[in-house]
Amino acid sequence: MAHDRLHERLNAYLAKKGLRHTSQRKVIADAFFGGPNHISIEELLARVRKEDARVGYATVYRTLKLFTECGLAAERNFGSGPSRYELSDESTDHHHDHLICLECGGITEFHDPAVEKAQEAIARRYGFRVRSHKHEMYGVCQACQQADEAPRARPRRS
Ligand SMILES: [Zn+2]
Ligand SMILES: [Zn+2]
Ligand SMILES: [Zn+2]
Repeated sequence: MAHDRLHERLNAYLAKKGLRHTSQRKVIADAFFGGPNHISIEELLARVRKEDARVGYATVYRTLKLFTECGLAAERNFGSGPSRYELSDESTDHHHDHLICLECGGITEFHDPAVEKAQEAIARRYGFRVRSHKHEMYGVCQACQQADEAPRARPRRS
């Protein structure tokens, strides 16, 4: 299984905290590890309920908090929408930043070594020791730009 490492890490954390791995927690973990990135609590709840209809919002909320505490998940707040959760950089061994479309809410991940280096250089210049960073750009995605332009399109005069 591709998510073995994530499950192992979660199990180790639960054992350390003296918490039981309940069946509901297991269903939530499977849905989260196998689900799309940047999932909201409501969206995750809908996925989980396909497996176990008894799971409630509060349980999903608390379980995501637990995943965040143990470093498996990262909470993201993009603009005015609900909190979204994704696998942390640490748990995927891969860092990425985000482009957020203000029209459709689409989230695109990007990673650019040049941007990362520039940020490190800025921190050095200020004698600042960075622990983490979030680079977010808000705007309009290509698909939304094209949709916006379509109704106004006029035959071009030659
Ligand atoms: Zn970055
Ligand atoms: Zn868009
Ligand atoms: Zn992301």
